[in-house]
Amino acid sequence: MPEPVLQHIAVYPGSFDPITMGHLEVVTRASRLFGKVILAVAGDAEKDHMFTVHERIEMARDACRDIPNIAVDSFEGLVVDYARAQGAQTLIKGLRAVSDFEREMQMATMNRQLAPELDTLYLMAMPEYTFLSSSIVKHVHQLGGDISRLVTPFTRQLLDRRLEG
Ligand code: ADP
Repeated sequence: MPEPVLQHIAVYPGSFDPITMGHLEVVTRASRLFGKVILAVAGDAEKDHMFTVHERIEMARDACRDIPNIAVDSFEGLVVDYARAQGAQTLIKGLRAVSDFEREMQMATMNRQLAPELDTLYLMAMPEYTFLSSSIVKHVHQLGGDISRLVTPFTRQLLDRRLEG
């Protein structure tokens, strides 16, 4: 594998409830740019999730297991505080459509005020994943649709188990 462009540490935060191929594609590209990428799973306090933070970490670890410079961790509270504590210089975000833009612009501006030394880097979603979100995966799966190309086999297993109750 070629050397990453930067030796810096980047944090890729999100709910990952569950991790999808869209997330995996973004974090893989980020791993080619940065010395280390921390995929940071937001804790259970944030919002209602289908999966516990432990399950979300497990699915993300399984998805990223072949990429040595990706670490999977969880955090509570402000992303900027977590990123600072990890010695990161950059936050990574994926952008799917114009609909993501407004929220992301607001968040990046707020984060810049909170931590001016941290920058947010946006990676555009691949065309085949621009429609893909964790929510749509859960919804389609609940209705019996085929999601096998959208998540890893392990994540699909956990989704199946959740559906069976
Ligand atoms: P979601 O918005 O799917 O519920 P998260 O909160 O887990 O997901 O998202 C974490 C980050 O991954 C965000 O920056 C989000 O924009 C990005 N992301 C989510 N899905 C995709 C995708 N299909 N392609 C590229 N980036 C994505």
